Amino acid sequence: MQAELVAFREEVRSFCREALPQDIRRKVAENLALERADHQRWQKILHGRGWMGGHWPLAHGGKAWKPLQRWLFEQTLAEEGAPWLIPMGVAYVGPVIYSFGSEAQKRRFLPPILSADHFWAQGYSEPNAGSDLAGLKTRAERHGDHYVVNGQKTWTTYAQWADWIFCLARTEAGDRPQDGVSFLLIDMTSPGVTVRPIATMDGKHHVNEVFFDNVRVPAENLVGEEGKAWRYAKFLLVQERLIAAETGRIRHLLAGLRAVAASVQEAGRPLGQTPSFAARIADIAIDLAALEAVCARLLAHADGDAPGGVEVNMLKIRSSELQQRVTEEMIRALGRLGIPFDPAHLDPGATPPADWPRGATGMASEFMYLRAATIYGGSNEIQRGIIAKQGLGL
Ligand SMILES: Cc1cc2nc3c(=O)[nH]c(=O)nc-3n(C[C@H](O)[C@H](O)[C@H](O)COP(=O)(O)OP(=O)(O)OC[C@H]3O[C@@H](n4cnc5c(N)ncnc54)[C@H](O)[C@@H]3O)c2cc1C
Repeated sequence: MQAELVAFREEVRSFCREALPQDIRRKVAENLALERADHQRWQKILHGRGWMGGHWPLAHGGKAWKPLQRWLFEQTLAEEGAPWLIPMGVAYVGPVIYSFGSEAQKRRFLPPILSADHFWAQGYSEPNAGSDLAGLKTRAERHGDHYVVNGQKTWTTYAQWADWIFCLARTEAGDRPQDGVSFLLIDMTSPGVTVRPIATMDGKHHVNEVFFDNVRVPAENLVGEEGKAWRYAKFLLVQERLIAAETGRIRHLLAGLRAVAASVQEAGRPLGQTPSFAARIADIAIDLAALEAVCARLLAHADGDAPGGVEVNMLKIRSSELQQRVTEEMIRALGRLGIPFDPAHLDPGATPPADWPRGATGMASEFMYLRAATIYGGSNEIQRGIIAKQGLGL
């Protein structure tokens, strides 16, 4: 790797060690629930350093990082135990707005994404339109200078925190299901928007249903051309799959697993020294190193916002499976400590039991949440289908 990238990674690492507030670091380390205010505080710190949207163009407040530098940045943050950089604003809708939006939209929506004053949600999936996204039924009818939106979105991550939601809505019937879909920016405080939480087995509140009942959306909030959103929607999905590589998060989880394996005793010695366990950890470490190498190679040759191609689908599959494997091993390593699932530990401000190994609290919850990694961002079956068709020509 070039010397300046290595230096950059070290700069990010030492910045995290100095600037990440201790209480937030502790919550991440102990798998406790984070609140919007925690994410916002950290994002504002990054913004102060000029690192929110580093991959954005200079003209829009970014630093024009190439994909490899961006990946190194995000990987290092996660490895250092910083909160997940919630992507809906900075990684998803921001690039759509600066690539396809009007000048007025750029002026209005981009600055509060970078300053973390606006949180966004992604309104793509519907009850009968997940893998088959083009089957979406939410309708937007044009009435003079506004649209009237009716329908329902589902699995909407952090809609409970969102100030805005970007939505795919059908504005006309097209020859193909992909035609006639438009990309709308909707204020979550608009009359007629209702958010209902979906309870998930990990005990945290991530996902929601969002209902639109005659919601009036100013026509100026249409991004790009009416009925032509499929292009913008696909552009955004490439960003989503690339983020899904999450190699930093896996490295962070693996470090936690190693620490637990060093402190948990098995037959009179640390579990990490048991040959079968050590071999499984080594297997994960090797697969992670391979994933990182593929990411680095792919990104080193990418010039724009994100590379396309079936390699991105491969990264999504490998990464989600690795995330699941590492948490499965964690639960195995923790033994009886992996079993308790006490939602009290998920409350902001909860204190984990003093005698638990570091990283043990909330691990059952994390393990359960990551069951979803092979579903969200496009299920792994769908990724395999794309690879078969576009990569292998089957
Ligand atoms: C935790 C979580 C967070 C999410 N966050 C968001 C969000 O913020 N915004 C948003 O818009 N969406 C979000 N999603 C939705 C996510 O994108 C969808 O769940 C995903 O695309 C799958 O769609 P589905 O749930 O409708 O399943 P379905 O499409 O109904 O699929 C059900 C099963 O059938 C399989 N299947 C379907 N079609 C095929 C096929 N052609 N070939 C082979 N197998 C197939 C799938 O792989 C899956 O196993 C989130 C989901 C989860 C679980």
